[in-house]
This record gives sequence, structure tokens and C-alpha cells, in this order.
Amino acid sequence: MASLPSRAQVVIIGGGIVGCSVAYHLAHLGWTDVVLLEQGQLSSGTTWHAAGLVGQLRASESGTRLVQYSARLYQSLEAETGLATGYKECGGVTVARTPDRMTQLLRTAAAAEAYDLACEILTPAQALDRWPLLETSDLQGAIWLPLDGTANPTDVTQSLAKGARMKGVQVFERTRVLDVTTDGRSVTGVVSDAGPIEADIVVNCAGQWAKAIGDLVGVTVPLHSAEHFYVVTEHMEGVHRMLPILRDPDGYTYMKEEVGGLVVGGFEPEAKPWVSPDSIPYPFEFQLLEEDWDHFEILMESALHRVPLLQQTGIKKFYNGPESFTPDNQFILGEAPGLRNFFVGAGFNSVGIASAGGAGRALAEWIVSGEPQSDLVAVDIRRFGPFNGNNTWLRSRVGEVLGLHYAVPWPNREFDSARPFRRSPLYDRTVQAGACFGSKMGWERPNFFAPPGQDPIIEYAWGKQNWIPWVDAEQRATREAVALFDETSFGKLLVTGPDAERLLQRVCTADVAVPVDAVVYTGALNSRGTYEADVTITRLGTDEYLWVTGAASVVRDRDWLQRNSDPSWQVSIVDVSSAYAVIGVMGPRSRELLSRVSAADLGDEAFPFGTSRSLDCGPFTVRATRLTYVGELGWELYVPSEFAAGVYDLLKAEGADLGVRDAGYYAINALRLEKGYRAFGPELGPDYSPVDAGLLFTTKLKTGIDFIGRGALESAREAGPRRRLVSWVAQDPAAMLWGGELMVHAGRGVGQVTSAAFGTWVGACVGLAYVDPEADLEGDWAVNVGGQLVPVTVSKSAPYDPRNERVRPARA
Ligand SMILES: Cc1cc2nc3c(=O)[nH]c(=O)nc-3n(C[C@H](O)[C@H](O)[C@H](O)COP(=O)(O)OP(=O)(O)OC[C@H]3O[C@@H](n4cnc5c(N)ncnc54)[C@H](O)[C@@H]3O)c2cc1C
Repeated sequence: MASLPSRAQVVIIGGGIVGCSVAYHLAHLGWTDVVLLEQGQLSSGTTWHAAGLVGQLRASESGTRLVQYSARLYQSLEAETGLATGYKECGGVTVARTPDRMTQLLRTAAAAEAYDLACEILTPAQALDRWPLLETSDLQGAIWLPLDGTANPTDVTQSLAKGARMKGVQVFERTRVLDVTTDGRSVTGVVSDAGPIEADIVVNCAGQWAKAIGDLVGVTVPLHSAEHFYVVTEHMEGVHRMLPILRDPDGYTYMKEEVGGLVVGGFEPEAKPWVSPDSIPYPFEFQLLEEDWDHFEILMESALHRVPLLQQTGIKKFYNGPESFTPDNQFILGEAPGLRNFFVGAGFNSVGIASAGGAGRALAEWIVSGEPQSDLVAVDIRRFGPFNGNNTWLRSRVGEVLGLHYAVPWPNREFDSARPFRRSPLYDRTVQAGACFGSKMGWERPNFFAPPGQDPIIEYAWGKQNWIPWVDAEQRATREAVALFDETSFGKLLVTGPDAERLLQRVCTADVAVPVDAVVYTGALNSRGTYEADVTITRLGTDEYLWVTGAASVVRDRDWLQRNSDPSWQVSIVDVSSAYAVIGVMGPRSRELLSRVSAADLGDEAFPFGTSRSLDCGPFTVRATRLTYVGELGWELYVPSEFAAGVYDLLKAEGADLGVRDAGYYAINALRLEKGYRAFGPELGPDYSPVDAGLLFTTKLKTGIDFIGRGALESAREAGPRRRLVSWVAQDPAAMLWGGELMVHAGRGVGQVTSAAFGTWVGACVGLAYVDPEADLEGDWAVNVGGQLVPVTVSKSAPYDPRNERVRPARA
């Protein structure tokens, strides 16, 4: 065996399917000075005992493309490496027991059409044709995904490792990484039990051990193991090699063929957490946990019902293996914030076999090019903060996460576990006011307020949910009077120093060389000219700016600013999110309300839109910023946390006769959609440029000032939009849309709804969608809502106040 080199360009920790995929793809991108270290044998961690399902359809287009690539790769690897992967394209049948599940499947079929993925809707009888052992008497219907397949996880891992080795990657088994070394800013290598290796880049693909590896260098990799189960049956009559995968999510189970019998596994609603990430025994190689038939009973009962022949079939083997789950059921990919050249690919939430091909390629591309090459925001490691690494918190969350795979993915579904977590200083007051909270970046945020005597809960449904009339009242108050929004969860970064302006000019699409107290709305682009951030910036002083971003973006934005700052520049970036509460005071009577508590002149001349001032608010001093995300006159008050309760009480008391009321994030969403305001995530992200999003007017292309992505943006402007963002309004007020639906033009699928909500002012669902730029906006438009075509009116401009008269009154 070759001896361990003293240096390598890249060291990968972990020889499971993910580490091997990263090695394979780095080698295929031409990076061959790569060493992979595995403490046991390849695949001996979690990979070896996976069931091997490779489902094709994910919640997002980028997630779906990633898994589609995995399937193609596993089909073609043998020809390249000579090692089979056991991949077979057997297709998959998913059945629905309830009307709600059927609605979900119909929505899935429409999403598949949007992603050009084959998917067929089946009656129960047609499902039986595809899966002859099925009990169908209680089924509503099913869908058929012909491209679903299964693979042998160990064989895929070996084949990927061979493909990597053939290009020069060195793989060392039985070599355990004990430490990761750094120079304080960047990794410098690893220390293994066979000696140290210097490295430019270290990639943590250590599966359920990845959190402990991250802890060695202060990088938070929030994951926790849960026990995960399946059984393998004896041979069964009628089960053949190409029998499709069967998924019965209402019964929490899946089945697939294995040597003439069935693998029966599933995702029970309450999972069983295993030991915390710092207590995983060593060695733990090709090892299983104890059988737990009591815990498995819920799955077995359901399987016996769905496939009655199982009642006469013996069980050959019970598998109970630990798998790592993350707090939001998405895996973790990317370069760690705060430590250069330390990459992570872990936390695969029991879809690591299906994801490894695509995720390995995406991570390798990220490593080689220095930034992700597609929209990976949902899986980006920078969506977490250090507080997400708390083992007690992770343990209480993991029990809920596993079951989500087969839970109905209700619109607006919120996590129930490990909450309340981060509470604003107004939390107790908003509880008293009847708030129902959602969770974002750990913050508890009022989604809406229930009237007295009503439970502040969401009754999940695909149609109109229970809270719609309550949010209607909140929207009305905002359009007609004044509403208070607790927006404390905003991410707030203080960017200070003599080079603060220089850094922000480099990063921002808009010109930030503005007078003190001016507010700038801007994007930040990557070198491909697509969005990395969408923020407002207030110039607080000559050398001081406040960068305000969405709650979930604060870690990634800070990292983006830091990585794009020149080391010689004098600039510091401090996260002050927790230091300030934010109270949005929004609506036509907001000026009147604030004038009752402040002597300041709040008129259009003295306090125009897009400016910010220190303001006395009763006995408290706050920073008031005249801005709006709801399309009305309004101010965001940035309030030192210790004053938040006082300011809130004052505004509630003084505004009582003005009709002031609390309002939440569901109202904000509906109001911003009526106004056509975009959001980072659904409308703005690394797959879209300002040309696609119709936001060229927010850029400084007309000036000579350079900024990241300028060249690419100029080319995009020449080429025209690849997709066009449009507003739409449903013609039928009874229709309910949630986002993700297929846009249909002249009978043809031409795009997808990005965001939707019931807008009180338009009196129907309203939203935004990316569509084919060639499609005629005047034509015949509809949205596929769970199989029904709902006609919509489509426009380039916002349905509400397109001339902006409510926000910036025309000067006399
Ligand atoms: C019962 C069960 C069924 C499943 N079924 C499916 C399925 O049908 N489809 C699907 O897509 N997914 C499935 N999965 C999930 C899938 O198995 C995992 O997501 C995937 O294997 C994760 O791969 P990995 O490479 O991240 O982790 P691992 O395979 O655990 O690899 C990590 C490796 O890192 C090594 N390592 C750790 N620490 C060190 C160190 N200090 N030094 C060196 N090496 C180290 C470990 O030994 C390990 O080999 C299932 C999981 C379970 C438990």
C-alpha cells in the first residue's frame, strides 16, 4: 500500500458515498492531487446499509436536477470504471389514501411537468397493474414516476472510488483523521493516526461524524443521528427484479425488490434519536443497532395492510442503522463561513444515495470555481448559525425531521419541535395579542394574530386555511389605517471602517456613495451576474453602514462581504441582529401615529422616502427608516432591544383610536405580492439575474462604477431575460394558490409560480411567477392548481399601486 503523502491539494475526510462522489468529481474536473481518508473501509459508515432508493422528484427544480444527474451517473459508471452500481430503472408508484394526499400527488405531477420530468397520474386500478400485490380498496389514486430507480449503495461507492483512483486520487482506508489544522483564517491540513497531511482544502464528508469534525475547528455542522429501520423479507411470489418502488406515504412506508423478496422500510412520524454527535462510539464500522420491533410496529402494520401477502412471508433480516438528520431536513453543503477552504458535504437525511451524485458534483464545482454554480441556497451551510449546533436542541428536533419525508408537505407547514427558540423582546406581548408563530433562522415570528377567543393555530389544508379572514383584517388595517409588525428577526450587519464604502461599492449593484442617512435598496451578485443577496443599506455615517437582510440570510451575507473584502482594507462586519428589535409601523395613518409620540417633522419634505433618522419616540430613542415592503407609507423602527417593549406599548396605546393593530408575516407576504415586491429565495437567487427579475433599474450600470458580476450582467442585458418575472392575479376568488404551481399559457406549461397569497385588496390570490420570456402576456393564461386550471391575469407591473403613489407621493 502506498504511504500517506505529506501534502495534497485536497484532503477529503470520509469514504462514504458522498466523500467518494466528491473525489470522483474533483478528479473529473482535473483536480487529481486529492487524498481521501476513511477511518474504516469504504462505505462502512452509513452508506452500506442504505436501501438504495433513488427517487427523482424533489421539492425544487435545482434539487430535482441534482437527483436526476445522480441517476444518470449511476447508470453510466460501470462503462467507465468496470464496476457495476446495481442501478436499475424500475420506476416508482406512489399511492394516496386520502383526498389531501391525492391533491399533493396532483401538485407533484404538475411540478414534474414544470421540470420536464415524466410523471403519470394513475387510478387505483392502474396502480394495481403496475404493482400487482397491492391492496387498493382504500386508495384515491396514485402517480407513476417511470425514471425512479434503485442502486446498490456499496457498489456505487466502490465504483465512484475506482473512477477517482483511475484519475489519480489516492484513497487510504483505516486512516482516521484526529484533527484539522488551521492558520486562524484558513485550513492548512489534517492530522491522522497515520501522520499529518498539509492541504490547501479540506472537505468534511464524515456523515454522522461530520459535526464532531466541524467542532475541531469551530465550524457548526448541525446534525444529529436517528435510528432508521427496514426489514428484508423472504422470497415472495410475484416479486420480480423490475418491480417498481412502492411508496405509501400515508402509511409511512416504502417497499422495493431485493433478491426476490421485499425491503420494507419507512419514515415513522416520531423518530428515535440515537446518541448525540459527540458520543458516537469508535470504532463503528459495518455496524447496526439493536432491533426494535415495538418502534417498527407502526410501519409493519401499515405494510401488512398494503401488501397482504406479507402476512404469509417471513422476515430475513432487520436493519437498524443510524443516519444523520439536519434541523430542516435539507443536507449541508458548501464552504464554512469563517474558515476558508473548509468544505462540508454531510447531513443527508436518508436521501444520501439519491443525492450523492449530484451533491458530489455540486460541491466539487464549488471547490474548483470558488463559488456554487447553481442555486444551492436551500442546502448551503451558511443557512445555519452557531446556535444551531446545540446538541440538546438538535436532539429535540431530530425526532420530527425523519417523519417529514412522508408527511403531507402542507403549505406553510411549521416545525413543532424544539420551539420556542429565539424570542424577540416583544415575544410575550405578541403571545398576549394572539400571535401564531412561524420559525425562521430559529426566530419565533408572528405569522398572524387570532382574534380573542380563537386558537392561534394553523389548520393545514390545500384550500383556504382557517386564518385567511384574520390576515384579511391585518391587510385591511395596513392599507387603510396602521399596523405594527414585529420584524426583529431581520439580519443586521454593521459595516464600518474607512473602506466600508469601497467594500459595499464592490459588492452592491446599486451606488452606495450616498449622503449620510440615505437608504439604498440593492442586490449583491456573484461573478455569474446572479443574486447572492437582496438587501437595504442605510448609511449611518461616513464610514458606517447598516446592512439589513432577511433573517435566514445573515450568516451568508456576512460571509459574502468578508470573502469579497480585500485583506488590506480596513473594514469590520459585525452581526448586530440581536441588539435591535425592529417594529414596522405601516399604513396611511403611520405618520399620524408616530407624530403623537415624536416631536420630529415626519412630512415628505423633512423625512422623505428612502431616508433614515434618529427619532425620539416618547422617552425612547430609536432609528426610524422610511421604507416599505407592503406598499404603504411607513417606517421601520430600529429599537435597542431594551427599549422594544416600551416603544411597542406606547404605539399600541397612542394608536388605539387610529385603528392600530398587530399584523404578521402572512399579511406582509400578501401585501408585498400585491405590490410586486420580490423576495430573496423564491424570486431572487443564484439562478436569476436582475435582467430576469426585472430589477435592472436597481443597478448602477449607467455609472462607470465596477461591481462584482457587472460584466456578466452586461452580457445578460444584451442577451435578454432567460425567464421573465411577472405578476399574476387569479380570476376566481375561490381558488387558493401557495407557490410552486405550473403556469400554463395557451395550454402549454411555461413556468412556475414563485410566491402566492390571498391578497385582500385584489380580492383573490396574487403572486409572482417566472415564465418563458417569449410567452405573450396578453394571451390565455392559467395556473395548474392540483390538476385544475385556474385562469389568471398576467402583467409586468404590480397589480397594486403600480405608479408608487402610496409610497412616494408626487411632489406638488
Ligand atoms: C436504514 C437506512 C436506509 C436508507 N435508505 C436510503 C435510500 O433508500 N436512499 C437514499 O438515498 N438514502 C438512504 N439512506 C441514507 C444514506 O445511507 C445516507 O444518506 C448516506 O449513506 C450518507 O452518506 P455519507 O457519505 O454522507 O455518510 P457515511 O456513509 O456515513 O460516510 C461517512 C464516512 O466518514 C468516515 N469517517 C468519519 N469520521 C472519520 C474520521 N475522523 N476520519 C476518517 N473517516 C471518518 C466514516 O467511517 C464513514 O465511512 C438510508 C439510511 C439508512 C440508515
